[in-house]
Amino acid sequence: MENQISAFTSHLSGPRGIYLDYNATTPLDPKVFQAMQPYFMEHFGNPSSAGHHWGWTADSALQKARLQVAKAVGAKSTEVCFTSGASESNNWALFGLLTQWRQEDGKSPIHILTSTVEHSSIMKSFQAAQNLGIEVDFVPVNKFGIVEVSEVEKRIKPHTRLMSFIWVNNEIGAINPISELAALAKKNQIYFHTDATQAVGKIKVDVNAEGIDLMSWSAHKIYGPKGVGALYIRSQDPKVQINPFIFGGGQERGLRSGTVNVPGAVGFGEASSLAHESLESECPRLKSLRDSLWKGLQEVIPGIALNGPDLENRACNNLNIRFPQVKTETMLPSLQKLGMSTGSACGTGSVTISHVLKGLGLNDDEVQCSLRLSLGRWSSADDLEKIIQVFKDAYNKAK
Ligand code: PMP
Repeated sequence: MENQISAFTSHLSGPRGIYLDYNATTPLDPKVFQAMQPYFMEHFGNPSSAGHHWGWTADSALQKARLQVAKAVGAKSTEVCFTSGASESNNWALFGLLTQWRQEDGKSPIHILTSTVEHSSIMKSFQAAQNLGIEVDFVPVNKFGIVEVSEVEKRIKPHTRLMSFIWVNNEIGAINPISELAALAKKNQIYFHTDATQAVGKIKVDVNAEGIDLMSWSAHKIYGPKGVGALYIRSQDPKVQINPFIFGGGQERGLRSGTVNVPGAVGFGEASSLAHESLESECPRLKSLRDSLWKGLQEVIPGIALNGPDLENRACNNLNIRFPQVKTETMLPSLQKLGMSTGSACGTGSVTISHVLKGLGLNDDEVQCSLRLSLGRWSSADDLEKIIQVFKDAYNKAK
């Protein structure tokens, strides 16, 4: 295992470069991989096969995984449905509710609220709902990228049925006041959904403490596998009624059909436990690394600026930086040994102007001079000097 781990970490900081894109995806933790392995070949059964031990073994692994995932966010295991990832969970939360409401009442107007800086899986699904005649308001954020409760409150209508706000922003690390927003929703009998994909593993997440009704998140942002995520659906106070999004054999208590990805769920479970256990030590470690990195960058690049909130008010692992008058694109050839993103990595690879940075009020030039760096479990102090030197050389060459 020791040898395996050192071979693995050399892929994150070694001859090929230094990985600084943990918000795009995280590598699988070797312990997660170890937990998943038996479920690919030895325990391959279908958890819905109720008549033999192959099925029972898969089913008991699934139950354990569901408990682990639920525990990490303060939910009951019966409130967690496995999905293919946060994009599916976000789409399902919205369209599952809309179809449920249309079924209950075919014609009443429906108004829903979200912000201008959501992940594209929320932005585009809300736009799709708008195209179907649903009334949608995209609430603007303040200059730090935060949704202000007063801005939401003034947009509430008698027929507002859903609010969805990202908890931690994937590009700028801004942390929204989720408990206040959820309380506002509850006061007005509106369902509250949050995209917690970048919150889980970085800040304390407890669905009951925050008053969340529905929540989406994903395994591959917490050192679990890609292609598996979850939707939390509150079962009490209120009991959320939601239609399935994928129909078929009735898996996931009839809510999400399709044979569950057992190795994926097992990995998600293990990753959730690890993230939950290490939260209190890992966040201060990452924050201290991230703060030193920022200090070093400011020393070598005068005039460099931070997009989004100040260091104290953003996720512990994130920096979104803006170079004075130098477009990131011109620096990229010299930055190839650093794995970073110019925005959200979840698009199709096309270069687009970040709607999140635009949402902060930045102009196109400022957006094009910006870059996201995100640290994670294998980021180390040993890398800082190298990273700062690469930036210094790249900037001086390009300016
Ligand atoms: N929401 C946020 C905030 C994200 O960062 C991401 C992934 N970039 C997603 C949703 C989509 O997650 P997935 O890749 O699991 O579909």
